[in-house]
Amino acid sequence: MLTVLLAVALTVLLTTVSLIAFRQFSITTAKDHVRTVADLVRVSLTEAMINGSIDKRQQMLLRIASVDGLLEARVVRGEGVTKEYGQGLESEQAVDAIERDVLKTGIPYFEMTDALEMPIFRGTIPFIATDSGNPNCLQCHHVQKGRVLGAVTVLLSVSHLRNKALLTILIMTIIVAVFALVITSLFRRQIIPVVRMAQDVQKVVAKARDGDFSHRIRFYNSQETIRIARDLNRLMIHLEQSLGNISQDVAKLIQYDLKGNTNLLSTTIEMVDTLVQVSQFKQAIEEDRTRREVYGRMARVLTDQFNVHHFSIYEVSANTNHMRPVIVDGDSTKSCQWCNPGILSQADACRAQRTGHAIDSVETPYLCDMFEGRGEGVLEEAEHICLPVIHSGSVGSVIQIVTERKHGRMFQLLVPFIKVYLRESASVVEAKKLLDTLRKSALTDALTGLHNRRYLEEYVEAMVAMANRKGHRISVLMMDLDHFKEVNDTYGHDAGDVVLKTLARTLEKQVRTSDMVIRYGGEEFMVILQESDTYSGDRVAEKIRAAVEAAEMTIPGGVLKKTISIGVSRFPTDGNEFWEVAKYADLALYKAKSEGRNRVMIYQKDICMVP
Ligand code: GH3
Ligand code: MG
Ligand code: MG
Repeated sequence: MLTVLLAVALTVLLTTVSLIAFRQFSITTAKDHVRTVADLVRVSLTEAMINGSIDKRQQMLLRIASVDGLLEARVVRGEGVTKEYGQGLESEQAVDAIERDVLKTGIPYFEMTDALEMPIFRGTIPFIATDSGNPNCLQCHHVQKGRVLGAVTVLLSVSHLRNKALLTILIMTIIVAVFALVITSLFRRQIIPVVRMAQDVQKVVAKARDGDFSHRIRFYNSQETIRIARDLNRLMIHLEQSLGNISQDVAKLIQYDLKGNTNLLSTTIEMVDTLVQVSQFKQAIEEDRTRREVYGRMARVLTDQFNVHHFSIYEVSANTNHMRPVIVDGDSTKSCQWCNPGILSQADACRAQRTGHAIDSVETPYLCDMFEGRGEGVLEEAEHICLPVIHSGSVGSVIQIVTERKHGRMFQLLVPFIKVYLRESASVVEAKKLLDTLRKSALTDALTGLHNRRYLEEYVEAMVAMANRKGHRISVLMMDLDHFKEVNDTYGHDAGDVVLKTLARTLEKQVRTSDMVIRYGGEEFMVILQESDTYSGDRVAEKIRAAVEAAEMTIPGGVLKKTISIGVSRFPTDGNEFWEVAKYADLALYKAKSEGRNRVMIYQKDICMVP
């Protein structure tokens, strides 16, 4: 289109320029003709004057005017000649302003009348008196040199010139138009394949930008374009194959279903990003100390990375069929928000926990009766996707994502990526769970469920540091059942165990939860009272003693009553080292035993001596 327009414009421009040039040429030629005729008239008049045939000047002028192309040749008299020789013929008077003007000024006048039927060129040329030549004007006319003697008006027909010019321009226009057409068609043949290929390249690149590398460039009838198309197609095939392989490998790694995903590029980038982030996540949770920290990190991934703000993380206890909300909507203090709390005491009521499958209410509405997210005010049309996480063959935790119905499909797309995080965290959570269990069993006494001496050894440093920092006192109560051996001997070892368990519960009841009851060894117990004032340890010891004395211990074969002896010491009053103070409590206990048992003995330097 552009090239055709250019050709037309070029033709128009050339035609216009030619028209102007021809007009100028016609005017110049006509001027020359007029001057020649004027000279001819002047010479003829002079000859007539010399030969005495001046009276026949009119016929002479008519004969000149009969020359082809010449329409009229008319002589007018100037003022000087009129004065000298009279008015002359009627036709020799100036007829218009132009002639009068030329007679007055002596300046020739030319004019082209562009009449359609016949273009006429008019020239009015003055005859100026001159003394050059022989004969000359001044020999016959008594006027000053340079005066205007007269003028001749010549009318020329320039139609033959115009016709010739128009014919030439027509031929030229035809030549230019044909030339422009040839050039345009040649140009089109060269340029069209390039333009089409450029359009193809644009399409293929746009598709590639959207991750679709399957499009190819067609071959057009041009060596250059074929070469470019072939190279680009090779590049596309290479990209499609290599990205496809990478994509499939990564998809396998993160167990992602690639089906129906046409954007190879963004999917691969997304998957590789997930892989990198998951690997960083895994490293971080492996270094976390507790399961709680791991769950916290998981919650942050949900909120920060996936923009999920309504969710629950439940931990399942397979043995007890209990579920515990660990984090709800990013808050570790919130309890069951989106489910019927019945699942907490009956974990198998949770469909995801029971089946071990993902439960997706976006796909199948109203799938789980326990979901109570709907109509809660916050989310009018809520849906849930619950993902069970398997720990050693059974569901160890359940991650519930709650979303508004309108965002359900979008959240479904996130699920494969969230699952990657869950899979990676599962083994870490499991290991930490195992470690917690081991640690708990190592620090707990199996018979009574109380902390054991190892726990005290681990805890003592922190406890002493805190007491020192806050300036608090610690009371240490060391106690031992009186004549416990008799129970074993009389009722058997099992009865002895029951007595020990009952004693443990009795001790726990007498102290605050912040205090610590420890099974120190066999039937020896230690109670550590924190932040106690000078006498509060003594009072609690007495309370314990009385409570044990009053307690009825039901054993197989009867009800028993036992007493206990207690030794009390204080940190840091009695010593700067905790274990030293503990030894003093033991000394006081020894003293209580030796003084008759069933009593409390407070450690004093002078009364308790090393046995
Ligand atoms: P005393 O008043 O002097 O303390 O007299 P006692 O009989 O309590 O004497 P002692 O403290 O020496 O006896 C400790 C007994 O506690 C010996 C041991 O068989 C028994 N014992 C230690 N651990 C357990 C246990 O786990 N279960 C049972 N049934 N008995 C235990
Ligand atoms: Mg003992
Ligand atoms: Mg004893």
